[in-house]
Amino acid sequence: MVVSRDTRHLPALVSPADGPGGDDGRRTRPKVRYAEHVHIPTDTVDAVVVGAGPNGLVAANLLADAGWEVLVLEATPTLGGAVRSAEAIEPGFVTDLFSAFYPMAAASPVLAGLGLERHGLRWRHAPAALAHVLPDDRVALVSRDPAETAASFEAFAPGDGETWTEEAALWRRIRDPLLNALLSPFPPVRAAGRLARAAGTADGMRLARMVAMPVTAWTGERFRGAGAPAVHAGNALHTDLGPAQAGSAVFGWLLSMLAQDVGFPVPDGGAGALTAALARRFTARGGRIECGRPVSRVLTGSGRAMGVLADTPVRARRAVLAAVPAPLLYGRMLDERILPPRVRGDLRRFDWDAATVKVNWTLSGPIPWTAPEAARAGTVHLGGDVAGLARYGLDVELGTVSDEPMLVIGQMAVADPSRAPDGCESAWAYTHVPRGLDWDGDRLRRVTDRMEALLERHAPGFGARVRGRLVQGPRELERANPALVEGAVGGGSAAMHQQLVLRPVPGLGRADTPVDRLFLAGASAHPGGAVHGGPGANAARAALARAGVGGVAYAAAIGGLHRLLYS
Ligand SMILES: Cc1cc2nc3c(=O)[nH]c(=O)nc-3n(C[C@H](O)[C@H](O)[C@H](O)COP(=O)(O)OP(=O)(O)OC[C@H]3O[C@@H](n4cnc5c(N)ncnc54)[C@H](O)[C@@H]3O)c2cc1C
Repeated sequence: MVVSRDTRHLPALVSPADGPGGDDGRRTRPKVRYAEHVHIPTDTVDAVVVGAGPNGLVAANLLADAGWEVLVLEATPTLGGAVRSAEAIEPGFVTDLFSAFYPMAAASPVLAGLGLERHGLRWRHAPAALAHVLPDDRVALVSRDPAETAASFEAFAPGDGETWTEEAALWRRIRDPLLNALLSPFPPVRAAGRLARAAGTADGMRLARMVAMPVTAWTGERFRGAGAPAVHAGNALHTDLGPAQAGSAVFGWLLSMLAQDVGFPVPDGGAGALTAALARRFTARGGRIECGRPVSRVLTGSGRAMGVLADTPVRARRAVLAAVPAPLLYGRMLDERILPPRVRGDLRRFDWDAATVKVNWTLSGPIPWTAPEAARAGTVHLGGDVAGLARYGLDVELGTVSDEPMLVIGQMAVADPSRAPDGCESAWAYTHVPRGLDWDGDRLRRVTDRMEALLERHAPGFGARVRGRLVQGPRELERANPALVEGAVGGGSAAMHQQLVLRPVPGLGRADTPVDRLFLAGASAHPGGAVHGGPGANAARAALARAGVGGVAYAAAIGGLHRLLYS
C-alpha cells in the first residue's frame, strides 16, 4: 500500500487539549499545536486502527474491503491482542497465551463473512465440546451430538435430557436472528424483528424473562439433577457473571447452546492461527500493520479525530478506530476535557470484569482424570455444583480469594494433536480472582498452588506429569497486552448494568463516540467480550456511514443524540 507523506494541504495536527468544537457550532481555535511534529514526514491514511487484537483486525478488514487505506498500530511487538500462541514454555508445545477456544467465532456471522478459511484458518474439534467435573467427580458433558448431551444430563435426573432437547430445539429456531441481533449495530431493528418472529410471542416472553434471571433460579426451575445446572452456571462464570447474578441465565444458556451447536473449536496450530488469517486477509488487500507502536494520543481538531500520535503523528483522513478498552481510550488517549462531563463521570463508574490468574503447563501425558469422560472434552470446567459456583462468584465479587475456585481448563491436544509432541499435552487453566489486590509473588503462588491441588484431587498424578509451567497473573497478563487491565478478560463486566445501551457507559450502544470520526472498536463496546468481531465490525460500519454520502446527516444525528444524552 502507498502511504501519502505529503502534508502540505492538510490542516496542522492539534492537541486533544483544544477541547470540543466544530460541527456543533462551538468552534474553538487550536491553543496548542504539535509544532515539533509539523515538519516530520507524516503517514496519511484513510483510517488508523489502534490495537491489533481480533476486533481491530476485523475493523481493518472491513474498511480495506471498502477500498480504504488502513494502518493498524499495535503497542506490543506481536499481533493478535488476546488471540496469540507461542512455544512459550518448551519447543514442540504450543501454548495459547490468552484465549483458546472459540464458539462465538465459529458462530459469528461477522467472521463468517470474512471467509477466513480461505486465508488459512482451519477449525479443530475435540470429541466433546465441554465437560463440567463436579466435586464428586461426576461429569456433565456437552457434545455436538444432541443425544449424547441429553443422555449425560438424563443420568443425573430423569427428565433433564428431555428439557435439554427442548432448549436445543428452541435454539435452532432462533439461532440466526439471535446472533444477528446480538452482533449488529445498535439498535438492531430488523434483526430484532426477525428474532421476535422466529421465537413467537409465547416463547419470546419467556426468553425475555430468562434474560433477566440468575442462572441459579432459571436452572432450578427447569432441571432436577446437578449436571445441567452446573454446566449452565459454569458457562455463566466463564462469561464473568456469578450464577446468582441477574442476567447470568442467558449467558449460561448462550454458551451452553453454542457448545452443543458449533462446539468449542480451536484453530489448527494454535490461537495465533486465527490472528494470522485475519492479518493475511487484511494485508492481501493492501492493509498495513505496525507492531511496537503504542498510540499515546488521539489527535483532534475542530472537535473531530484527525489522527493519532504513535511516537510520530499519523493522519487519518476519514476515521480513527480504537480497538482498546474504553477507559484507555477516553482516560489516556484523549484529553478528558474534550469529553462531556457526564461521560467522564460515567467512566469513573466503568465496571471492569474480574482479574485473572492463568497457569500454562507442558505435560508428559494427558491429564489423568479420575472421570474418564473428562478426557474427551477440549474444555473442562472444574469446580463446585451450582451452589458452590454461586458462592465462588460471590467471593470474587466481594473481593475474597476463594478457597473453592472454578477453573476453566484447556487440554489443547485433545482437539488439536499438533499442539504437543506425541502422547504429551499442552494444557492451561485460569480462574477469576478479585480486582484491586496486590498480586505479589506470595498471593499469586497461593492461588496457583490451590489450582494445581484442585487438579491433583480430580486427576491424581497430574503434578507428576508437569514438565514446565508458565504463570500469568494479573500483572503479567496486562504487561503482555495492555488492554487486559488487571487481567480483565472481557473488556469490562458483562453484567446487565453494562450491556446494550449501557455499554461501555450509558449512551447509544453504538461505536460512535462524543468525538466525531472517532469510534470505539474493542470489547468494551457493545456487544462485548469474546472473539466474534462484533465491536470491530460495528465500528467499521459506523466509520463507513460517517464517511459516506449521508455522512453529514449521520454526524448531525449522532451529535444531536449525544447532546441529548450527555448535556
Ligand atoms: C486469558 C483470556 C482468556 C480468554 N478466553 C477466551 C476464549 O477462550 N474464547 C473467546 O472467545 N474469548 C476469550 N477471551 C476474550 C477475548 O480474547 C477478548 O474478548 C478479545 O480478544 C477482545 O478483542 P479486542 O480486539 O477488543 O481486544 P484485545 O484482543 O485485547 O486486543 C487489544 C489490542 O490493543 C493493543 N493496545 C492496547 N493499548 C494500545 C495502544 N495504546 N496503542 C496501540 N495498541 C494498543 C493491545 O496490545 C492489544 O493487542 C479471553 C481473554 C483472556 C485475556
